[in-house]
Amino acid sequence: VSETIFMARSADRAANGGAIPVLLYHSVPAAEPPDDPLSVSKARFGSHLDAICDSGRVPVSIEALAEGLRGERDLPERPMAVTFDDAYEDTVEAVDRLNERGIPASVYVTTGQIGTGEMLRCDQLAQLASRGEGVELGAHTVNHPYLDELDLERVREEVTASKSRLEELVGREIGTFAYPYGAYDRRVREAVIDAGFRSAASVKNAISHRCDDPWAIARWTVGRTTTAEEIARILAGAGAPPAWQHVRLRTRGYRIARRARRRIVERLGGAR
Ligand SMILES: [Zn+2]
Repeated sequence: VSETIFMARSADRAANGGAIPVLLYHSVPAAEPPDDPLSVSKARFGSHLDAICDSGRVPVSIEALAEGLRGERDLPERPMAVTFDDAYEDTVEAVDRLNERGIPASVYVTTGQIGTGEMLRCDQLAQLASRGEGVELGAHTVNHPYLDELDLERVREEVTASKSRLEELVGREIGTFAYPYGAYDRRVREAVIDAGFRSAASVKNAISHRCDDPWAIARWTVGRTTTAEEIARILAGAGAPPAWQHVRLRTRGYRIARRARRRIVERLGGAR
């Protein structure tokens, strides 16, 4: 009973803050490899698709979301977003299945890995780039490092080189970025803004909301064992804390969360 009450309360809180669930997928293989906690099998992904459609939420791109957070455009009443990191070969089919049901997807590409192993090939990238509104392409560095552990020069290199490489490959401007492992700090975030990105996605395993940071949008990681029911709960704004209430972060993350929280309080007028 207490769990139900807790869930109802977090749903309420998230609803009050305007919950914006952003799902983060990685590989969607035919069968889930037992050693990869982040792979979601095709069959399971199908059940997630149903949950997304049943949620009645309006899927948007990360760019649209960021513009909404900055007040540059109106967001739909109950927005959500679906994102994929790293860009695997099997991302193309997953994105197709979303698009078939009218759901756009954002795909963050690690440019140094294109065409290697089970990662997306150049021709598949071109295929995704031709989907128009259905696919938003974003940069995810060249080498997928923990950016907060690099010196600033290397941070800038990873951020700008992945942007220009991706732009060269798809022939259009790339405006969104995702931090590998969700790892960022103030320097990294500023380097991303300086490089000309207009939005960035983090991880946080929390639910984004109307006061979230457009350059560190919270996402919830979908894993191998995530059920359709869990997806439904997340899309209802429950099952995970709103981004600013997430205090169970480790080490460095805690400092970042504290800072983010302060920014939100300031933005809400609490500190002024
Ligand atoms: Zn990644």
